[in-house]
Amino acid sequence: MNKKEQLDELKEKMEADEALPLKKSDTNLVFGVGDPNAEILFIGEGPGYWENLKKEPFVGNAGKLLDQVLRTIDIPRESVYITNIVHHRPLENRDPEPSEISAYGKYLDEILKIIEPKVIITLGRFSMGKFLPGVTISSVHGKVQRVIWRGKDIVVVPMYHPAAALRNGNMMFSFKDDFRKVPEMLKQIQDEVKDKEPEVKIDQMELI
Ligand code: URA
Repeated sequence: MNKKEQLDELKEKMEADEALPLKKSDTNLVFGVGDPNAEILFIGEGPGYWENLKKEPFVGNAGKLLDQVLRTIDIPRESVYITNIVHHRPLENRDPEPSEISAYGKYLDEILKIIEPKVIITLGRFSMGKFLPGVTISSVHGKVQRVIWRGKDIVVVPMYHPAAALRNGNMMFSFKDDFRKVPEMLKQIQDEVKDKEPEVKIDQMELI
């Protein structure tokens, strides 16, 4: 099965899961959108009004800001993958509870396993907390974090949430400034991966 087929299968499983705590008669599953082979995976907080209606993450005002900053760095929205820490809309857009984050977490973990992104960009403190518990966003936003997460070496870049940036001018400045640095960060991450590759590849070793 290719990555798209695996994601479709997971989405069906999630749709049938009646135990998901935020699932109500008027909430739609907002699974994720984008390229299943993406190198960059964005994780937001949870769907809002428009996301619930359109069944797609980041299509309201916060999404418009995200699209705008992606355009400024020439990264098309279609080339990344975008999902959330919870996949049904919390009532009145309240913060997700730890028990809710954990219930949806098993599916998010599967999404991560299927896509295997080179970089995870977290939007806001809830998705950051999945990888960097106990860390304050003001101290790490816009900085590359290498994390050993469940035994795997992963790269996380925490960003402020676009909705927070829309509410606060200083945060908007940092949000845009952090995004401007993304192309350089990607280059740095790719160079580090290249440096890590062994000079003699396994198949060459067998010939020696
Ligand atoms: N905010 C989020 O965190 N996620 C969305 O999908 C939309 C707004």
